[in-house]
This record gives sequence, C-alpha cells and structure tokens, in this order.
Amino acid sequence: MNLFDVYPLNDVTIEKGSGSYVWDDKGEKYLDLYGGHAVISIGHTHPHYVKRLEDQLHKLGFYSNSIKIPLQVELAKKLGEVSGKENYRLFLCNSGAEANENALKLASFYNGRKKVIAFKKAFHGRTSLAVAATDNPAIIAPVNETENVIFLPFNDEAALEAAFREHEVSSVIIEGIQGVGGINVASDSFLQTIRTLCDKYDAVFIADSVQCGYGRTGKFYSHDFSGVEADIYSMAKGMGNGFPIGAIAIAPKFEAKYFMLGTTFGGNHLACAAALAVLEVISSENLMDNATAVGNYLANELKSLPNIIEIRGKGLMIGIELPDAFKEVKKNLLYKHKIFTGEAKPNVIRLLPALNISKTEADIFLEAMKKELV
Ligand code: PLP
Repeated sequence: MNLFDVYPLNDVTIEKGSGSYVWDDKGEKYLDLYGGHAVISIGHTHPHYVKRLEDQLHKLGFYSNSIKIPLQVELAKKLGEVSGKENYRLFLCNSGAEANENALKLASFYNGRKKVIAFKKAFHGRTSLAVAATDNPAIIAPVNETENVIFLPFNDEAALEAAFREHEVSSVIIEGIQGVGGINVASDSFLQTIRTLCDKYDAVFIADSVQCGYGRTGKFYSHDFSGVEADIYSMAKGMGNGFPIGAIAIAPKFEAKYFMLGTTFGGNHLACAAALAVLEVISSENLMDNATAVGNYLANELKSLPNIIEIRGKGLMIGIELPDAFKEVKKNLLYKHKIFTGEAKPNVIRLLPALNISKTEADIFLEAMKKELV
C-alpha cells in the first residue's frame, strides 16, 4: 500500500531528537524552531517526560472512560493550578479540532442557539463544525459548509456589535493569536468587547488556545493578556509534547449532563501521563518565563535586521513577514543552515520552538537570518 499523498513531503527524514535539536537518517543535526507545528513544548525526549510515560506504560496503557481514571483528576487539578483557572472543569479528547467541536457543541447545548461567530483567516480544525468555522476554502468540502457560521473581520468591534444585534449568537470562537492565518494578534480591547457582548447576550466565549495556548506566549492562554476570562478554552498541540491529547477547560456556569460529550480514547492513561509530565516541567522549570524572555529577545533582535516587513506575535509564537524577493529564506534556513521553521502564508516565517529553547540556540537562528536577509 502507498501513502495517500496530502502533505508536502520533503526529502528530510527525522529519526531522533533531544531538546531543541533533531537528527535526520544521515546523522545530520537540525535546530528545531518549528516543534512539529507548536507541538513540542518541553523539547524532544525530555527525561522527565520519557520516564513518566515509560512508568505508565508498564502499569496500564489504556482503559475506557466507563471507569474512574484518577490520572484525569490529577491532570485537571494540575492544569487548574498552572493555568490559574482552578474553578474550571476539564473534558479530555484527542486533538484540537475535536476540542473545538466539543466547545461549539457545549455552547449550543447551553443556550439552545445555532449561530457561531468566527473571524477572517481563522483556523479551528478539520472536523465538520471546526472546519465550518475556518476561513480557508482549500480545506472545506461541500458537506462541511454550514450556514450557521458568520465570518467577521478580525479586531473589528463595530462589525461584532452589529452581528450580535442582528443574529441570535450561540458562541464566538477566536484564536488569541491566529496561527495558520499569519500570526495576527487579537487586540486586548477586541477580546474585552467579545466578553462584554457575550455577557450581554448570554453567548459563549470560546478561546481557541490550540496553538497559542499552553504557555507558548508567556501566559498560559494568550487570551490572558487582555485580562478577560473566556467561558471555554480549547487546547491540544503542546499539551502532550507529541502524544495526541486535546481538551476543553469549562467555566462553572455549564451543567454537565450524562453522555452530552464523549470519546473512546480521550483522556486515556498514557495521554494523561504525557500531559502531566508536560505541566510538571512547565512549572518546575519556569518555562513560561523562559518563553517571555527568549521570545522578547528574538523579536527585538529580529526588528534590527534589514528587509523584514513586520514582526508579529507574543513570546515564542513569532511571525516574520518578508518581502516576496525573500521567499526562499525558509527553504535556505532548512537546507543551508539546518534550521526547521514553519510558515503561515508563503511569505511569513513562523517560529514555534520548544518553551525551553535557550538564548544561545536563538542566536544560531539570528546569525542565519543575518546572512539570508542581506
Ligand atoms: N485550532 C488551531 C488554532 C490550530 O492551529 C489547529 C491546528 O493547527 C487546530 C485548531 C486543529 O488542531 P488538530 O490538528 O489537532 O485537530
């Protein structure tokens, strides 16, 4: 059998990793500033992570949600502590799209309404509701279309107020920083207006933190910069450092009813062990502070380089917009300088490194950029 070819497979095969480095099948070493798309939050093969997963695997890998799983309770407690949202409750699933699907569904159960507000250039996933709230025609099949999603311009408060007046809004879903859409930061006042309008109309504020959450920006959820609390936070990517796991953190006002949400694999023993190991490392090694320090350092140094249109983002979620003449830079970083980066649009380089990246590692990237941007 062959692979169903939907990814831009390139000719690099990664075989092992340690911290912010990976090695290919020929033994060549690469600096990883992409983290497999914001997934590697505490670095590759972190010893505490490996040990926790190994120990759990020897005990029990899986049993279903039909029994009590104390590891889930432990994870909810730790997540509450590290994120500062101790009064929220946790529902576990397997991916970011599934987390958003559950968030949108829960909102609709809560207020009995159907209309969802999403934003231009948003990306929320590839399951039906999540893809319907995504503004990217390339991935929407006819069956995914729903007339219930209203797309509004990002950071436009007047358009938002008008939409609330016109429609019976169930929920507003927003990334604190749009990732796939080009590293576009939601303004504090826009998030505050969403909060005010959701309160006024009893709609649900969903903070998609799948990419911008889990400490990447220096705060646990990037929405925290605005000082407002969302009703539901969705998360995945960095949560398991590569082990598939997603979740929603749910505010106290929602009532849990038997079977309203559910999953076979979500919150299994191995996934919980992985997620606990990640949170333990984030808190014991102060990785949110490191994300702020190294992220600010990178952004400031990048601002002094020539031929950059704009630097956007927060902490270790950084977008570097380059002119068309420099569209080969990402490829050169990989093949010439052995540095993995991501991209948002063809001309935006996206940095999503592990939260424990060092300043010395950041300097390797800055030196390469200096050579590329002349
Ligand atoms: N939401 C955001 C903001 C994302 O960036 C992504 C994935 O890139 C998703 C949701 C979907 O997550 P997953 O691919 O785990 O389903």
